[in-house]
Amino acid sequence: MEVIELKNADRTLPQRVKEFGGIDLLACYQCGTCSSDCPVGTEFFFRIRRIMRKAALGLSEQVLPAKDIWCCTTCFTCFDRCPQDAKPTDVILALRRVAAREGYTPQASRNTSANITKFGHAVPSLEEIEKKREAMGLPARPPTAATYPEAIREIQLIVKKRGIAEIIRFNWEKMELEG
Ligand code: SF4
Ligand code: SF4
Repeated sequence: MEVIELKNADRTLPQRVKEFGGIDLLACYQCGTCSSDCPVGTEFFFRIRRIMRKAALGLSEQVLPAKDIWCCTTCFTCFDRCPQDAKPTDVILALRRVAAREGYTPQASRNTSANITKFGHAVPSLEEIEKKREAMGLPARPPTAATYPEAIREIQLIVKKRGIAEIIRFNWEKMELEG
């Protein structure tokens, strides 16, 4: 059995979760409905109920650096079924926001954010795909933001204004991630 030491608990975590879009974590009474219905939890060791409890207890060192909070697919099943309206999906998203600001963004998410910043799309356009599209009579690029330079500039403005570049450590001069 795991013994949890509360004397070093981060008492600011529940408040930060609230500020970043979660709710009062004490609303959760640990019934486990969320975990039993979670499609990710049925596949591997991921327990949303456990995350709710650890966050409420302020166990930042266990919650924020862990991969678990990034495993949730945000399907909202737990959100819909929670009898306490504790909004576990919103708590997960809030925990990600807190974790990201502490430097715990997973590399895959940093890469995706960098692609959106550079190209206006999570998946950059490849010449090979563009040729195939043209051969099928389609425009080389689909009509996404990536096709419109003005839209890319607007995305970059959002990335700058919202502090996302600092969070993912994006170097504007090199137009690539640092580290
Ligand atoms: S978040 Fe809701 S469903 Fe999950 S354990 Fe807490 S009260 Fe139950
Ligand atoms: S939103 Fe996330 S935690 Fe909730 S049921 Fe879906 S995958 Fe599981």
